[in-house]
Amino acid sequence: MTVYLSHGTPLESYELTKKDHRWQKDVEQIHRHVKAQAEQWKAEESADPELKQARQDNVVRVLKMMASWPMTPDHELMRWRIRLYCGHIHETSRHSTIESPVLHGSSSTECTECGRNPAAIVAYEPVGLKSGQPVPQPGPPATPPKPTRKQLESQLAELKAEVAALKTARH
Ligand SMILES: [Zn+2]
Repeated sequence: MTVYLSHGTPLESYELTKKDHRWQKDVEQIHRHVKAQAEQWKAEESADPELKQARQDNVVRVLKMMASWPMTPDHELMRWRIRLYCGHIHETSRHSTIESPVLHGSSSTECTECGRNPAAIVAYEPVGLKSGQPVPQPGPPATPPKPTRKQLESQLAELKAEVAALKTARH
């Protein structure tokens, strides 16, 4: 079972930490790098039409593959309340087996409110499954109920029968 993690309280006033500033810098850097990469590809492609065609075919192939994937059903989606670097609160969803929304390279997102892109996720908390089912809470391990006198008596009778059977088998 997935134990969902929280980090800070998105809705309360939040003071950005040093780590948040560094994180934001990191995601901006990655974003710039990806953009630069795309620019480079574009330049390469305009110089080489064959390469352009090959890359386009590749993209089409991947998109077709993604379109054929089944949609994740709602009961497999976990909703998260996230606070972004810019201070805006959003809701997002991840697969229910993922215990935190910042895993798997998704530690930032575009803020649809102020347009900051990327904006690092600085606080988050689970809201609930998209299907409306409650979040399974990790509780203490279930202890079996104490046996009743009747159950003990029948258990004793069973043991007696077993002992008797063993005795007969030995003779
Ligand atoms: Zn924002």
